[in-house]
Formats: sequence, structure tokens, C-alpha cells
Amino acid sequence: MEEDKEDLKSFKDLGVCDQLVEACDSLGWKNPSKIQVESIPHALEGKDLIGLAQTGSGKTGAFALPILQSLLESPQQAFFGCVLSPTRELAIQIAEQFEALGAGIGLKCVVLVGGVDMVQQSISLGKRPHIVVATPGRLIDHLSNTKGFSLRTLKYLVLDEADRLLNEDFEKAIDEILKVIPSERRTYLFSATMTKKVKKLQRACLRNPVKIEAASKYSTVDTLKQQYVFVPAKHKDTYLVYILTEMSGSTSMVFTRTCDATRILALMLRNLGFRAIPISGQMSQTKRLGALNKFKAGECNILVCTDVASRGLDIPSVDMVINFDIPSNSKDYIHRVGRTARAGRSGVAISIVNQYELEWYIQIEKLIGKKLPEFPAQEEEVLMLAERVSEAKRISHMKMKETGSKKRRGGGDEGDEEMKKYLSTGKNNNNTGKSFKKSKKY
Ligand code: AMP
Repeated sequence: MEEDKEDLKSFKDLGVCDQLVEACDSLGWKNPSKIQVESIPHALEGKDLIGLAQTGSGKTGAFALPILQSLLESPQQAFFGCVLSPTRELAIQIAEQFEALGAGIGLKCVVLVGGVDMVQQSISLGKRPHIVVATPGRLIDHLSNTKGFSLRTLKYLVLDEADRLLNEDFEKAIDEILKVIPSERRTYLFSATMTKKVKKLQRACLRNPVKIEAASKYSTVDTLKQQYVFVPAKHKDTYLVYILTEMSGSTSMVFTRTCDATRILALMLRNLGFRAIPISGQMSQTKRLGALNKFKAGECNILVCTDVASRGLDIPSVDMVINFDIPSNSKDYIHRVGRTARAGRSGVAISIVNQYELEWYIQIEKLIGKKLPEFPAQEEEVLMLAERVSEAKRISHMKMKETGSKKRRGGGDEGDEEMKKYLSTGKNNNNTGKSFKKSKKY
């Protein structure tokens, strides 16, 4: 995690019990991260917490360790803690960390998210797990429909990525959940950004919380190298291909504004011989997880995504974040680039800015409080790629249209039939006959 004075502290120094110190050890967590150093002692004293922490700061450990320690000390077993998350993927990752930390103590954890069979989840609830990690909507579904399930004995409530929870309009669901859980409980609220809605939520459900800010407001980590390149709109694709080629071998996330753009770009990149895969909110849950796993396993090294993927997902080894589209909300920039340079590692974030996005880019520089250097692109080299890139793009558009009309006829599935084909054969469909990457000198 981030190198600083606090790294000298050990988990034991913070009051973490031996069993859990061992669990941290076995996960390779040598020293607590900053947010852990600052939250765990207060949490162990029984305080409510409000934590402002960046993605990758180790915040899951900051709330999971105190809950597990309290569980070890408590005679109550079932439905001890509940974590609410805005996305399914984040919920799964939180549960994975709980399970990893609780492996030695027989922890039972259940994930309740949409897009997955309710009956299976009800069966898991019947096993009376210690921890429930859920998206608000699905939790409400179970609270109303699953016989024998209630959170009346809950001791810990965590609201993770609270700013996002509220953005996605879970406000009503959260209100309902708050009504059916005991008011005598500990509450931890974590958020990357502090918005008015988060402040309201804090007032509504926390008692004299200790406020912890592990990072200064909206800063990005020092190990992150941030650059921009200013390009005419018509050459965006070519610049993207140029950057990916220059940085070939890196694990990258490419952010776009729309779901369609993720698919078009991923298809285009695959046509050029890159191992790219799209992920967006439009895909089914199974496909999103499938894509994420392919990326995590290294089968694909370029994840083309919308902001759905910019938060919460625990993808430890991203070397580069490319902002193919500049976010109109500057805070999204912070979340996106938070996917790289995590846990003390270094990373690069490159923003491809066109004439229409300049205003948004200026807002970003204001928010992070610095002027960024330009990515050194050799214009002649970039433009040499233009023809092949636009041909690959044309082919991708054609394929999208084909799958689009198939879908209208009831045949296609979310327009990524083509992607499925590539992934199953492991081959790219390079109609130019030559692998793009091979044809470029390094
Ligand atoms: P989070 O911010 O909770 O999503 O955590 C980001 C990543 O950091 C996860 O892969 C954790 O397993 C890892 N992590 C959490 N705490 C530590 C620690 N103290 N030392 C090393 N890695 C950690």
C-alpha cells in the first residue's frame, strides 16, 4: 500500500487480534494501509466511521477487520453484518475479501445481487451466514419475499461507495432498509467523494462518527503519471491505437462515454490484432463477469469500459488508464484513474482530448490542482496508421449493424455475438490479412 510513516505500524499495533493478523499475513498484507491505520483503532473502540478513501486504498479491509474481530468476540452468529454496494461486481469483490480474511474462522458470507437466481440466494440465506453483501434492490426483494430472513439482529451496517449508492438512486431502498434494521448498531460509511447527498445520509444513519480522510480531497496518488494529448475529433481512434501500440504489453482500461462505443472500439481493436474486450452496463451480469474474468486472467489485456467499470472493481494490475472520452463530470476522472497506480504501484493515465472536450479537461485540471504534461506523440507516425484504423472501424460498424439487425429479428444477443466468436476461437478477425501489431516496428 502507499508508502508513508504509518506503514511502520503493524496490524497488531492497531489492536487486531492474532487470528486476523494471521489472516492478513496469509493474504500478503504486511502492513496496514493508511485508511486501515486510521480507521481500525476507532472501529475497534466501537465508534461509527465515515471514511473518505480512494479506490485501492484498502478500505474493504478497514471495515471488514473490525467486523470480523467483533464477530469473533460475539455469541451471535447469523446476520451479524451487512454491506451495501452500488454494483454487483463490487459486492462480489467485497464478499471475496471477507471470505479470504475469514477463511480460518469458518466465516459464512452471502452475496445478494440482481441478475442472479433468487432461489439459490434464498438457500444460501437459509444457511444463516454471518455477513450479507448486497445491492440495495435485491436486499429489499429478499427482505420482503424470503421466508424467515430478516436483519433484526444486525450489528454492523456498511455503506460502501456511498456517493455512488446515492447517485444510482438507491435512496428509497436505503431508507427502507434503515427502517428494518436495529438502530442500536455500528455504521460505517465509505465514499470516494463527499457530496450533499452523502452528508444527508451521514446525518440520517451515523452517530457521532469519526471522520477519516485517507487522501486529500480529490487528489490522485503520486505514483500516477498523468498526461493528455490534444487531438482533432476525427483522429481520436488513430491516437488511441498509437498509444496502445507505443505502450504495448501493458494492461489497460480504455474509458468511453457510451455502451455502444465500448463494443465498437473493442471490435476495432480486435480487428487490428489487440486483445481487447468490452464491459458496460448494457451487458448481462454473466457477460460482465465473464469479460472481467478474462481481463483479470490476462486473456485480454485491454478492457474497454464505461464508467460502470470505473469504480469499485478490484483489478490489481492495471498499468494504464486511457480516457478515450473525457468525462463531463470531473470527479469521474478521479475514479477512472484510480484504477491504476494502486497499492503503491506506478501507473499511467492518458487523456485523449478533442476540441469539444477542452472545457471538461480544463475542469479536471482545476479539480486535481495541476497542469498535466503532454503525451509525446509523433504526429507523422500517428497519421500513418489512420487508413488502417479507419478501415478497422468501418468493419466494426458493419458487424455491429449485422448483430443489431439480428437482435431486432430476435437472433442476436446484445450485439456482442462477434466478440463471443473471437473469444471462443481466440483469434482476431483481421480482415486486412496482416496482424496490425506485427506490421509495426517497435
Ligand atoms: P480496496 O481499496 O479495499 O478495494 O483494496 C484494494 C486492494 O488492496 C485489494 O486487492 C486488497 O486485497 C489490497 N489490500 C488491502 N489492504 C492491504 C494491505 N494492508 N496490504 C496490502 N494490500 C492490501
